[in-house]
Amino acid sequence: MDTAFFVAWFEDAAKVVRLRRDELTRLDAAIGDADHGANLDRGFAEVRAALTDWPPASPVQALVSAGTTLIRRVGGASGPLYGSAFRQMGKTLEEPVTLARFAGAFEAGVVAVERLGKAAPGDKTMIDALAPASRALALAVREGLEPLEAFERAARAAEEGALATIPMRARKGRASYLGERSVGHEDPGAASSALIVASLATVAG
Ligand code: ADP
Ligand code: MG
Ligand code: MG
Repeated sequence: MDTAFFVAWFEDAAKVVRLRRDELTRLDAAIGDADHGANLDRGFAEVRAALTDWPPASPVQALVSAGTTLIRRVGGASGPLYGSAFRQMGKTLEEPVTLARFAGAFEAGVVAVERLGKAAPGDKTMIDALAPASRALALAVREGLEPLEAFERAARAAEEGALATIPMRARKGRASYLGERSVGHEDPGAASSALIVASLATVAG
C-alpha cells in the first residue's frame, strides 16, 4: 500500500460520496439537519484538491493532509470526526505500509472518533460502522488474508453495521435530540462510513 493507494482511496471516496450525496442528505433529513451529503461532498472535494495541489510524499502525509482538510473545511460534526480519524491514522501508521500496520492505524482512527465524539458502539453513529470494520480488518490480518479480501470483509462489516443502526435510538449528535423518534432510520454518518470503507476494496481490487 503506497502513497498512490491512499490518494486513490480518497479519490474514490470523493467520487462515491458525490454519487450518493442526495441519499446521505435524505438520511440526515430524517433524523438530523439534511446536510450530511453536502458536508461530505464539499469536504472530500477539498481533500481531492489538496492532494492534487500538494502531492503527498508518503501514505502518512496523504492521511494527515486529508484529515486536516476535513477538519478545516467541513462545518458539521462529521468533518472534525472524520478529520481526526484520518489524522490519527496518519500519526499512527508505520511505513512501509502493510495490511497489519494499516489495520492498527485504522483502529487508532476509530478510537480517535470515539474519544472526540464521546460515543460508543450502539449510540447510532459512524462508530457503529467503523468499529465492526476495524474488527474485521484485525481478524483478516490474523487469518493472513490479502488486502483485497480483508477490505471486502471490512466493507461488508461496515455496511451491516450501518444497517444495524436502523433500530437504534440515537444517543449522540443531532439525532439524539429526537429521542425515540430517531428509531427506524439509518444513521447518515454510519452510511457514509460504509461507503468510505467500501472504497478501500474498490481501490485494492
Ligand atoms: P451535523 O450533525 O453537525 O449536521 P453531519 O450531518 O455532517 O453533521 O454528520 C452527522 C453524523 O455525524 C451523524 O450521522 C453521526 O454518524 C456522526 N456524529 C454526530 N455526532 C457524533 C458523535 N458525538 N460521535 C460520533 N459520531 C457522531
Ligand atoms: Mg447534519
Ligand atoms: Mg449540520
